[in-house]
Amino acid sequence: MSVSAERRLGDRLARDIYRDPMYLDDPVIGDYLQQLWQPLLAAARERGEVPPDLAERLAWELMVSRDRAVNAFAMPGGYLGVNLGLLAVTERPEEVASVLAHELSHVSQRHIARLISREEKMAPWVMGAMVLGALAAGSNANAAGAAIVGSSAVAAQQSLNFSRDMEREADRVGFGVLTGAGFDGLGFVTMFDKLQQASKLNDDGAFPYLRSHPLTGDRIADMKARLPVGPLAASSPRPGLPTAEQHVLISARARVMAEKSPDRWRTWLSTGSADKATAGDRYAAALSAQRLGQRAQAIALAQTLRGQVGSASRPTVDALLMELLLSPGALATGQDVLLASLRDSALASSSRAMVLLGAQAALATGQPGRAVSRLQEWAVQHPRDAQAWQLLSRARSQQGQTLHAVRADAEAHVAQRDYAGALERLKAAQALPPAVRNADPIELAIVDSRRRDVELLLKEQMREAREE
Ligand SMILES: [Zn+2]
Repeated sequence: MSVSAERRLGDRLARDIYRDPMYLDDPVIGDYLQQLWQPLLAAARERGEVPPDLAERLAWELMVSRDRAVNAFAMPGGYLGVNLGLLAVTERPEEVASVLAHELSHVSQRHIARLISREEKMAPWVMGAMVLGALAAGSNANAAGAAIVGSSAVAAQQSLNFSRDMEREADRVGFGVLTGAGFDGLGFVTMFDKLQQASKLNDDGAFPYLRSHPLTGDRIADMKARLPVGPLAASSPRPGLPTAEQHVLISARARVMAEKSPDRWRTWLSTGSADKATAGDRYAAALSAQRLGQRAQAIALAQTLRGQVGSASRPTVDALLMELLLSPGALATGQDVLLASLRDSALASSSRAMVLLGAQAALATGQPGRAVSRLQEWAVQHPRDAQAWQLLSRARSQQGQTLHAVRADAEAHVAQRDYAGALERLKAAQALPPAVRNADPIELAIVDSRRRDVELLLKEQMREAREE
């Protein structure tokens, strides 16, 4: 299977995943994963594992699923799925990084392409059904679950299991990438241990990563042999890599977000409200309190947490605090001042979570113009950021600029490769009353030209669908 055919298949799957209710674009978790992912990708390129051609032509995009099952998986075209469950059970950044490095290596070594080529009978739609099924595992997501029917899909699912040699190769290459990026190689071993111990405790399928990645004694011994001899010094992370404390906060976030039971939230709220609660427990308590509708308590916990964490974790806590202040409810005395100050520093930040939260705060404080200017600048640099486009659309509506608002909404659909949805909105923009349309001739010209672009993209998309 050629690189471009693999990418096309991956793009099609990605389009379906964006619409899947299990798909989660949480900017805070996304920023954290990028802090792990970008150094891994850079190391893989530097080491020649990802040659320039592959770096350019595959997506190298992470997609998060709300799934509680401990899993991560490589998909065709350079897309990687990461479940909240994986973040929730890990204790250190290098543990997640080791799983990402392993999956990255399945992609860079073209294992998926090799499997698809080997299994010629596996039609791309079967592959699609299977990947979506993996994404929806543990949920009752109707469409995806129903897609896996018939014996051919089952056969395909079994044949996607990588061979032992491929697993070994992904371990070997992944270990080099992990340590090359500056992470502690011990992450591979502790992750293995964690999976192995957890699998002894529960056999309820919550660890699908083990089904696709059986932990043979060989694999563990191999990994241990790669580690330096002698006791490991407690290594401090390379500058720029996330700290253990940052990981603990994100892991707590994933734990709460993947949980639907109010009883668990109540337990976490009580644990994290104790005077000597750890930073992770306090984070989980604040978010649980918000889920339980106890907003004031959530804000108080986040403020305590702010004084508890190191400077590297401060932005993560500030993001939480903004999120809580922005959730429905009136602001107490002084909280409006706090929100305004968080807004100003967030708008000046280069982190995606901060930019998006800063823009929301600008909208909440009646300053849509500031949201528009920051989001526009951001969308130029990140044209595939659907959330930024959607927020820009809201800000434009708040300004009363309907034409701009509809066009930004269309761009959000383009960003998720939903060209039919985008075209519908561009047509609606062109059909606005003349007084609205003609108020901004430049924007109208952009709408006209984007419509032509999107029509071509849609044609191409439909032609590909017919060929497959
Ligand atoms: Zn693997």
